[in-house]
Amino acid sequence: ARSAIALGIDLGTSGVRAAALATDGSPLGMAAFPFPDAAAARSPAVWRRGVEACLAELSSHLSFDSVEGIAVDGTSGTVLAVDAAGAPVGDVLMYNDPCPDSAVVERIAQRAPPDNPARGSTSALARAIHISRQPGVKAVLHQADWILMQLGLAERASDENNALKTGYDLTAETWPDWLEACGMDIALLPAVRRAGAPLSVTGAAGRALGLPFGCRYHAGTTDGCASFLATGASAVGDGVTALGSTLVVKVASARPIDAADYGIYSHRILDFWLAGGASNSGGAVIRHFFDGARLKAMTPLLRPDEPTGLFYYPLLKPGERFPTNDPAYSPLLEPRPADDLVFFQALLEGMTAIEKSGYDRLADLGGPPVRSVRTVGGGAANPAWTRMREKALGVPFLPSRSAEAAVGTASLVLAGKARWP
Ligand code: ADP
Repeated sequence: ARSAIALGIDLGTSGVRAAALATDGSPLGMAAFPFPDAAAARSPAVWRRGVEACLAELSSHLSFDSVEGIAVDGTSGTVLAVDAAGAPVGDVLMYNDPCPDSAVVERIAQRAPPDNPARGSTSALARAIHISRQPGVKAVLHQADWILMQLGLAERASDENNALKTGYDLTAETWPDWLEACGMDIALLPAVRRAGAPLSVTGAAGRALGLPFGCRYHAGTTDGCASFLATGASAVGDGVTALGSTLVVKVASARPIDAADYGIYSHRILDFWLAGGASNSGGAVIRHFFDGARLKAMTPLLRPDEPTGLFYYPLLKPGERFPTNDPAYSPLLEPRPADDLVFFQALLEGMTAIEKSGYDRLADLGGPPVRSVRTVGGGAANPAWTRMREKALGVPFLPSRSAEAAVGTASLVLAGKARWP
């Protein structure tokens, strides 16, 4: 069997996935465990079963004997409380669950620094505070932290990426005192390490799962950061555009960009900062007008070199956050031409303009000019759109190494080994 050298585990929104990389960083194999339903997605026991199933599947056709490291990414802001033995106490609060106690959100609004990512109604910190108040709670962990412990890590450790929305201070590299004023007992939070940093070597639980003696755990990351890393983007100025239901642009920057008004905050990864913004436009608008079969049929008929002259701003309802922050921002989808093909092309042109101004906005706010673009999501498969975007952005478009977050997390293990030998 071929030998894996690094493993990455991805706890995503729809299931668990695992990736194995070879010495040169190329993907060797993938395994997947889809969550059967929404209840499973919020069950730590199912997460664990998924991780075990994925590792068993990978090790059935790959040798784990040479595995040097493993890391985990999880959905950003999913938290759980555990007892002294590490067993979950009460329910998990997922990344998109509002905090059930609005007074906690209110207190964070009063005490947190102005641009802090822990603010807001879906604040991870608010969820962490809420679940920490149950009897018997000895620690509050992020999803990825808990999985690392299930893999045998003996200490409670997190990474800066997962910790960001829980209020971690990236400058002081500590949990800040204002968390206590918000009601968070800092003693319950895990120690935080840089994403990718090596931790201790495999314990008995890890060896029981097939990890070899001496294999090292590494601090992981969030699913969003992992998806960026999966593409192969890593140098300052490397951009990644996600053309899924939403339109998201991200860029690797030499310095952090923080602009809460635009929904922008920055993650530190290795020696760069990852900053990005999400528009309310995106594939969901296209999907509102055309089903998959129509899109497929129309795509080869597009004329990317003959602009429609319609300057649309495709939104399903008023309101935009990035690249323009205006809760009342108006959609512009008129006049609607008789020919659906022209209408479709105009939607794509509108989104292309949003992507371009997104990268320009990140640069205006202190980021680098984008110097290459990799594309992920359903829209990446539209060659005519790619042609429009290449012309508008004027930088090289590069192929994505992988669309799998687990591959990004496994590559973080290799990068972490090189960065902290
Ligand atoms: P999600 O963000 O939901 O995971 P995907 O990455 O699967 O989304 O992408 C789905 C989106 O891709 C849909 O909203 C659809 O509008 C868009 N899409 C699919 N095919 C095309 C196409 N040929 N041209 C442009 N957009 C497309």
